[in-house]
Amino acid sequence: MTDREIDALVAEKVLGQTWDENRCRICGWPIYEFPIDGCTIDDCSLRPLPKKRADEPAHFTTDARACALVLDEIERRGWAWSLEYWPDTQHHYCDIHKGQRGTGTCAFGDNNRYRAVALAALRAVGWNEQVCHHAPVVNSP
Ligand SMILES: [Zn+2]
Repeated sequence: MTDREIDALVAEKVLGQTWDENRCRICGWPIYEFPIDGCTIDDCSLRPLPKKRADEPAHFTTDARACALVLDEIERRGWAWSLEYWPDTQHHYCDIHKGQRGTGTCAFGDNNRYRAVALAALRAVGWNEQVCHHAPVVNSP
């Protein structure tokens, strides 16, 4: 699974972001019936086309500010998280505790700290099958 595929899953499954189908996916402006009015469902009227599509997910796996949104959402759900770097494995481990410590723990280790957070968050919301072979998993004590 690529980082951008993980980003899209995090946007949808963790943050619950869905696209308003009344808006152009390319530029984000309203959709009209006729091209003379602006964007239609299959033709963006903006020229030049934007470098970044309006419906693109944030870069949760590679950007600190986007990663902070994921951690905010974990806290909003009443879960606790920790992030540690283990020099022996050179991995960052994100631990998300959904209940008391030792119960409902979703952990993920990766050499990229933001990706570790994204994968642990996906595991916490029940998307473990899709992401579990991407990176080594650590079991919490
Ligand atoms: Zn458009």
